Amino acid sequence: MFAIDLTGRVALVTGSTRGIGRAIAEELTAAGARVAIVGRDAAKAEAVAAEVGGDAKGFGCDISDPAAVTALVEAVEAAFGSCDILVNNAGITKDNLMLRMKDEDWDAVVDTNLKAAFVAIRAVQRGMMKRRWGRIINIASVVGLMGNKGQANYAASKAGLIGLSKSVAKELASRNILCNVVAPGFIRTDMTDAMAPAAVEALSAAIPLERLGEPADIAGVVAFLASDRAAYITGQVLPVDGGLVM
Ligand code: NDP
Repeated sequence: MFAIDLTGRVALVTGSTRGIGRAIAEELTAAGARVAIVGRDAAKAEAVAAEVGGDAKGFGCDISDPAAVTALVEAVEAAFGSCDILVNNAGITKDNLMLRMKDEDWDAVVDTNLKAAFVAIRAVQRGMMKRRWGRIINIASVVGLMGNKGQANYAASKAGLIGLSKSVAKELASRNILCNVVAPGFIRTDMTDAMAPAAVEALSAAIPLERLGEPADIAGVVAFLASDRAAYITGQVLPVDGGLVM
């Protein structure tokens, strides 16, 4: 049987109050991990943690604030005793054509999608190095591989995550800390529910598997990468996109 067992591991999943992050938190909990659920609102994160069950705990943190991200990692380590698995999942879009893209739209997207991951990795690495075990999984996007009209800020942040992840993978491999990227295609969440039905239809037609993905499609891959089954995989970018990018 292909069992993924994360018993005894502590996982911090940013942006896990809904969408893909929540599905990842549920999957890691089902595999036996104790999970820190994170969103901007502490009460909402605590409510989601209660629904997810297991030993999940909720934490409020605006990850666009670097000091808050460092404090979050400290709070998770204090509450659970360690942080073995970090999933940098929280992400936002602020789309516009280049000509109309404001500096603040660039900064908000890069700070949330890329800088927060850098700060979180820096904060968790000390404990992971001491324990000589760690898994860092960064959620990018196929847009980081392909580019997309109207998403220069988002695509740059996701492509940046890929370069960050490969560098971290090289730096920390000798300490048995693995760092990989999952690049989702189009996944049914609040982010894609905002799209016009015609756009979704056109998009689905371009996907060989002829459907949008579900958050669980991403969660299963993250659980695998977090597990000992993936002990020889680092620095990789794994598109989970129904065959869109090939
Ligand atoms: P959603 O918009 O559904 O959820 C975003 C999550 O991030 C929420 O839990 C939200 O929590 C949290 N979040 C947003 N900003 C912050 C912040 N400043 N501080 C803390 N938490 C924050 O997103 P998805 O589930 O669709 O996407 C998850 C990841 O997957 C993102 O990185 C996205 O770029 C990526 N992705 C998604 C695709 C898709 O098709 N859906 C495709 C490719 C990649 P709260 O509101 O409670 O603060």
